[in-house]
Amino acid sequence: MSTGAVKLALQREGRLSDDSTSLLHRVGLEFDSYRNRLFATCRNFDLELLFVRDDDIPEYVADGVADLGIVGRNLVLEYGHPVTELLPLGFGYCSLVVAVPDESGVQSPSDLAGARIATSYPGSARRYFDERGIPVHIIPISGSVELTPTLGVAQGIVELTATGSTLRVNDLRQIDTVYTSEAELIANPTALEDPDRSRTIDRLCVRFKAAIAARAYKYIMMNAPRSALEAIERTASGLKSPTVVALADPDWVAVHAAVDAERFWDIIEHLRDLGASEILVTPIESMIM
Ligand code: ATP
Ligand code: ZN
Repeated sequence: MSTGAVKLALQREGRLSDDSTSLLHRVGLEFDSYRNRLFATCRNFDLELLFVRDDDIPEYVADGVADLGIVGRNLVLEYGHPVTELLPLGFGYCSLVVAVPDESGVQSPSDLAGARIATSYPGSARRYFDERGIPVHIIPISGSVELTPTLGVAQGIVELTATGSTLRVNDLRQIDTVYTSEAELIANPTALEDPDRSRTIDRLCVRFKAAIAARAYKYIMMNAPRSALEAIERTASGLKSPTVVALADPDWVAVHAAVDAERFWDIIEHLRDLGASEILVTPIESMIM
């Protein structure tokens, strides 16, 4: 078990595939991602990639067929395989929700007592209703769960959704969230105890964290009137405090700061109002904290 490259399982074709391979490329791994192949080898890191169906990833990682996997937390929670959850990866966001037909009188989950509930997440649905002491009949379905109320198969569903648009198109109304999910890095617990493997896994985690943190920030540089410096420092506070550099003109300074990427347009508008000009914005490639 302790020789050879670390093996990472990722989804071959689906919602997580592009974000998974792009994360690997962003941390500098070089490999050919021919998805019609099962394996790929990294040329510059001791890592082998295994392209598989996402549903198989928790099991492969639990069995040690792969040391690591990139998979939605929803599947880890659904199957309950013994894997170690190492790191949330910041993509593949979705929620498992309870929904009923728009015209249904059901307002809260307890109104579903005695009802039939169709789902492709029977384990998670069972646990949800059991924990609340609501007796329901769980009907496992493998696809198009959102059609089952119209077909008369079920009075409610438990299904994954990212934006809620599939629910709306099918005249369904969400009444509760079972859990929220995102893609995460999972590991085989035994691999984490092996000195060689765990060292490689640690190196990968450092890189993933740096790439994920980098995405959360943008680096901005601007010229600012010295008189507005205090207000500008408050607006562009970002990490620690901004860097302030004197300019030849004593009334002006240059300010550099890492700012929250999700709010950066608001921040920039505010900085302009405060008198900042020549504002340059760049993405950050890595941020090693
Ligand atoms: P596979 O052929 O690999 O089994 P799949 O069709 O089961 O693929 P996808 O639909 O590609 O799986 O979804 C993969 C993962 O993407 C889900 O397990 C979930 O973590 C995440 N995801 C994000 N948004 C959604 C969504 N709106 N619906 C379903 N899954 C979503
Ligand atoms: Zn799947």
